[in-house]
Amino acid sequence: MQFIDLKKQYQLIKDDVLNEINQVLDSGQYILGDKVPELEKQLASYTGAKHCIGVCDGTKALLMALMALDIKAGDEVIVPAFTFIATASMAALLGITPVFVDVDEKTYNLDPAKLEAAITSKTKAIIPVSLYGQCADFDAINAIAAKHNLAVIEDGAQSFGATYKGRQSCSLTTIATTSFFPSKPLGCYGDGGAIFTNNDEIATRLKWIRIHGQDKRYHHATLGINGRLDTLQAGVLLAKMRIFPEEVKLREKVAVRYNQLLSDANCVTPYLAAGNTSVYAQYTLLVNDRDGLIKFLNENGIPTAVHYPIPLHKQPIFTHNYHGQDLSVSEKVAAKVVSLPMHPYLDEETQDKIVATVKQFIG
Ligand SMILES: *Cc1c(COP(=O)(O)O)cnc(C)c1O
Repeated sequence: MQFIDLKKQYQLIKDDVLNEINQVLDSGQYILGDKVPELEKQLASYTGAKHCIGVCDGTKALLMALMALDIKAGDEVIVPAFTFIATASMAALLGITPVFVDVDEKTYNLDPAKLEAAITSKTKAIIPVSLYGQCADFDAINAIAAKHNLAVIEDGAQSFGATYKGRQSCSLTTIATTSFFPSKPLGCYGDGGAIFTNNDEIATRLKWIRIHGQDKRYHHATLGINGRLDTLQAGVLLAKMRIFPEEVKLREKVAVRYNQLLSDANCVTPYLAAGNTSVYAQYTLLVNDRDGLIKFLNENGIPTAVHYPIPLHKQPIFTHNYHGQDLSVSEKVAAKVVSLPMHPYLDEETQDKIVATVKQFIG
């Protein structure tokens, strides 16, 4: 059994993917070839964001977003304490201080009620994460950001394809970033990512930053990196986008079925906030004996994952950024979450086996 079965998807779209790859190989345009702007146009249209900039991965997308906003050493950004490391580490790499805020008890996303207490005169941006495929509460977060004149960067690495009150993830904030790591809801066959914005000036800066800050050839207007998306990966993503809307529906179907089958089990199933749809990047349960359940499932041939076992303020690189604020929800959740196999092609028979085994252990 696979945790995420990427081979099944490949079998379905093989001809299309190979055709896209062959077109790139024949074109000789391996760096920022025509497939990249073609994909960017499609992703912008899909999300409703005015601009999309294809980049090398979701981590550098966060780095480039901070650079484009000119957030610098000594500034602060607010991040949820419960997320993947990159949400905070790219800020730290620039000398920016990540300030940790606790997450909501039910959605595990940044809790807007706890946000304002963390804002100081040094705060420049809020980086909410749309964790597990569900958007954070952006109306509440954007309102607080506007009041304090802060930028909002959505870390949408897990939520491309999700909607918030009818609008698409990655179109809701100053800048949004996403990842096309193979196991993300929209994944390529290597590393890839994208940045979205409605702001023309930020979009121009991001395009410069993607190629070493060049505004004209060998003329460097701003500091930049090599942050480009491969043309080959853009081709793969064009093929995958043709089935993506259908896959979003299949993911939802799998998740709804999990919810039904586990409704009487001794665990907390994913909570979907009103107005949200999720792409279920992960199907994640909260259970009391997490480590026991993982051991039992693995012994029965069922793969699991923990996203994420250690909250950011407990990470060795960030303990010095922790000043005793209450992050108890993040701590509790990190100790109890476990993700089950989740992908659009999970068949009912396999799902039944997973659920039966989970119930056998937790009751
Ligand atoms: C995957 C992920 C990233 C990093 O994306 P990469 O493409 O692997 O660099 C950042 N933030 C979150 C929340 C992620 O899940």
